[in-house]
Amino acid sequence: MDTILVVNAGSSSVKFQVFSIEGEGRLRRQIKGQMDGIGRRPRLRAKGVDGQPLADRVYPVESVSDVPAAMGVAGGWLRNEIRISPMAVGHRVVHGGPDFGQPVLIDHGVVARLERFVALAPLHQPHNLAPIRSLLANFPTLPQVACFDTAFHRTHDAVSDCYAIPYQLYVEGVRRYGFHGLSYEYVAKTLPHVAPETARRRVIVAHLGSGASMCALKEGRSIESTMGFTALDGLPMGTRPGQLDPGVVLYLISEKGMSPAKAQDFLYRDCGLKGLSGVSNDMRELEASEDSKAKLAIEYFVYRIGLNAGMLAAALQGLDAFVFTAGIGENSTRIRARVADQLGWLGVTLDSAANSRHARLISGSDSRIPVYVIPTDEELMIAQHTLLLLMDTPSSSTRQEKAL
Ligand code: ADP
Repeated sequence: MDTILVVNAGSSSVKFQVFSIEGEGRLRRQIKGQMDGIGRRPRLRAKGVDGQPLADRVYPVESVSDVPAAMGVAGGWLRNEIRISPMAVGHRVVHGGPDFGQPVLIDHGVVARLERFVALAPLHQPHNLAPIRSLLANFPTLPQVACFDTAFHRTHDAVSDCYAIPYQLYVEGVRRYGFHGLSYEYVAKTLPHVAPETARRRVIVAHLGSGASMCALKEGRSIESTMGFTALDGLPMGTRPGQLDPGVVLYLISEKGMSPAKAQDFLYRDCGLKGLSGVSNDMRELEASEDSKAKLAIEYFVYRIGLNAGMLAAALQGLDAFVFTAGIGENSTRIRARVADQLGWLGVTLDSAANSRHARLISGSDSRIPVYVIPTDEELMIAQHTLLLLMDTPSSSTRQEKAL
């Protein structure tokens, strides 16, 4: 079986999926797995195509102390026990900087360029690059492809790509990149099948997960995002604040005595729904809580989605459809109902029964614009890009050594 391995590496977990390559370049998901608890309590879990468990085991902490070690263990399990040797590996890489507007076949030169963007995404980029480096060292002929969260937004006009700061900083790379691009790309590709009549018009997509952002799509292309230079901006998230007056950061440093590293940690891990509620970063727990701060955090989340929808509708000069996606967007009937309520001034109405059964179209028949729920699939996007690059690369057939 010819397969593609998709890797999404974070600081304490490596998630992976295996896709088989079927006829005519179609891909079929075969395995979903993850190695989590890296450096604490390493645990490998994997399921097959029908959800049947394939592995659930813990490892001694010293044998899986970092991301490359986790990749090695997961790769060894796939190779030796499941007998899968992928033709290529597709990686989620958070930052492609100003350089990469498309996925790219990885070599040492590409890795060196991607290392320059570590400063732009210090909590994600090093972990994304670690398994790439170790696979390059151990399996130098195995094709690897980097797929970027920023790439889909590289179509932005200059006016939505910059900040009002000295232009030299823009040249250095301080730009409004936008993130969750693989998710938006998947939705943009799926929408023509769901709603051919609106797919090419003005659409807002709300990716509401642990990380959350919104994207304005015009003719299937991103023209604006709520996120900017880093994945801190825009909507409030599980542990990140979203839009914040930069003066707050200065206050944290000058008045609260936070070092830059401490402030960074605080902004990525202690703010957002978790910080405001003091209860949890998890929307399910907030929805179940009677705590008044949990209610405030949800209120703030919904309110900011409404505000940002207004901003993106202005960027689009109108609105023809609204789409929910990601963990909260796909699963929380209550948040969807409350957001739809916020969008009432745009003529949005909800079909409560359709919303409750998680239908694809959840707007009422009298709604001025349709509202959809489209489950995202970033991993499939990565697998598709990897396969496309593999097919487009003349030397790929000689490089497709089943190495891993
Ligand atoms: P990420 O991929 O960024 O880790 P997800 O897209 O998986 O995040 O989304 C995680 C979020 O989705 C969590 O806040 C979780 O509580 C929320 N979520 C998942 N299922 C539900 C549900 N049934 N109701 C409300 N929130 C949910």
